Amino acid sequence: MRISSDFDGGNIICRACDDPGDIRLEIRRDANSHFYQWFHYRLTGARGQDCVMQIVNAGGAAYVGGWPDYRAVASYDRRRWFRVPATSFDRDAGVLTIRHAPERDAVWYAYFAPYSMERHADLVAEIAAASPLVRLEVAGATLDGQDIDLLHIGRDDGKPKRQCWVIARQHPGETMAEWWMEGFLRRLVDPDDALARSLLAEAVFHVVPNMNPDGSRRGHLRTNAAGANLNREWNDPQPWRSPEVLHVRAAMQETGVDFALDVHGDEALPYNFIAGPHGIPSLQPRQIALMHDFQAALVRACPDFQTARGYPEAAPGKADLSMCTNWIAETFGCLAMTLEMPFKDNADARDPAAGWSPERSRKLGAAALDAIDAVVDRLR
Ligand code: ZN
Repeated sequence: MRISSDFDGGNIICRACDDPGDIRLEIRRDANSHFYQWFHYRLTGARGQDCVMQIVNAGGAAYVGGWPDYRAVASYDRRRWFRVPATSFDRDAGVLTIRHAPERDAVWYAYFAPYSMERHADLVAEIAAASPLVRLEVAGATLDGQDIDLLHIGRDDGKPKRQCWVIARQHPGETMAEWWMEGFLRRLVDPDDALARSLLAEAVFHVVPNMNPDGSRRGHLRTNAAGANLNREWNDPQPWRSPEVLHVRAAMQETGVDFALDVHGDEALPYNFIAGPHGIPSLQPRQIALMHDFQAALVRACPDFQTARGYPEAAPGKADLSMCTNWIAETFGCLAMTLEMPFKDNADARDPAAGWSPERSRKLGAAALDAIDAVVDRLR
């Protein structure tokens, strides 16, 4: 029996795996950081055995509220990910236990369906080759030397266009954000999709499918190679600490921004929701009105989205301007929002087999085009 995680996006430390009934694991911290919660590992040689896998440091993870009602995901073929029903959290002991009898010689377990950097490369290649309307730019390099891919999608017909920015995966363990991107990008470049075509008559899209390649490949939850939480770097990004934000911010300043959506996942709340730029010093009623119209259109396009639950709004003047959404809304005076998807499931429409999943993330991504279309005329 063997536990391994030395692969793209892998994360686990094996403390004991001699006895299938007593496998003890720890999640490795993000480099130069105290955050951890993402796990992804392979178990081999345990076919048909009742395995009890204890993640013994789960109680010290970044979001302990993420563990109650949580079920780990598993896969035999790394394509179809299913939930492991017998996942439980002992709050007093701080231990997450996954009980599973694998039906195959190899089984992968993870916090959420992984999205590897190889898959990212496939997505960028697919989209860049899909349409002459797509231009791929490398916005810069990460600290580990990876490319920061930036896709510009639009028609250069001399008519003025709204500048729409969509970014994902500042937090690399929130892999649902890049599954969302697959649905969003594939629909945007689909020449047979009438709504995408009409949207591209009015808007240009600038899309960063993965803001944090280093954290993604290293198997981090929340930070880049330097241990920086990129979504707290927007007011003062530094080349030695957060080049990802520095380069993308510079590209935004070149194009201007009329619309921004920053795509994330939330460990604890079992809902899809939007967090707006409440509390920025220059907040205008039109920013909030546009946000409400965007939300209403997204509910209509994809009922997995909802508006009843979410984060508390920041009080006037109390917004954290180091966060992407707040910095953009303050700097450009435009509609800027954070989209959160669940790690667990949508509690309003549960799927016992898959929970919140890559497929549902993709559908929500595709539906976001309807919601952008509902506000695009009024963005400036
Ligand atoms: Zn996040």
